[in-house]
Amino acid sequence: MSKPNILFVLGGPGAGKGTQCAKIVENFGYVHLSAGDLLREERKAPGSQFGELIEHHITNGTIVPVEITCSLLERAMNKSEKNDFLIDGFPRNEDNLSGWNRVMGEKVNLKKVLFFHCSQEVCTERCLARGAAGSGRTDDNEESLRKRFVTYENATMPIIKYYEEKGFVAQIDATKTPEEVYSDVEAVLKSL
Ligand code: UDP
Ligand code: MG
Repeated sequence: MSKPNILFVLGGPGAGKGTQCAKIVENFGYVHLSAGDLLREERKAPGSQFGELIEHHITNGTIVPVEITCSLLERAMNKSEKNDFLIDGFPRNEDNLSGWNRVMGEKVNLKKVLFFHCSQEVCTERCLARGAAGSGRTDDNEESLRKRFVTYENATMPIIKYYEEKGFVAQIDATKTPEEVYSDVEAVLKSL
């Protein structure tokens, strides 16, 4: 089999990465791997040695060391029979980027970085609504959200910029309704 095709999906907390990924899966047959979901799963896995460390990073909006996240992603890719992957919410900082490139860089074919652009106000509102509706997430509260945005601006934006300079980024306006956003997403996917 040829190298797996990868789309990285980035954007602030609440930008709609997960929502749009679900639509891409439905229409284009990609496998959705959310780094945050994989970490939350690992956090609650019985006997995991990383549970506490992951919980600490998630509530504080900081980033888990890449060795953990990258191995969860690689394991999930290997477990799948498919060859097209959406990697959602990763790479989020310099450590993520260099760790991924070291271990996975040569093993995959990075096709595009989908960047969902949305204001902090709209994103915060969405996450608070998600929390109020019972997301069960320990980080959908005002304090964690403030910290998540600091990390996003300081650590993740430079990664998006790095890929932008390499010509990989497709920027999508994520402030609109999910259907409107998806029609832009669809155009990008069709152009690949
Ligand atoms: N996280 C991390 N590394 C990753 C992805 C997520 O450490 O590669 C942690 C980080 O603490 C982040 C949290 O998991 O704030 C939630 O991430 P998720 O992508 O689920 O949040 P979203 O941006 O989708 O709201
Ligand atoms: Mg998400």
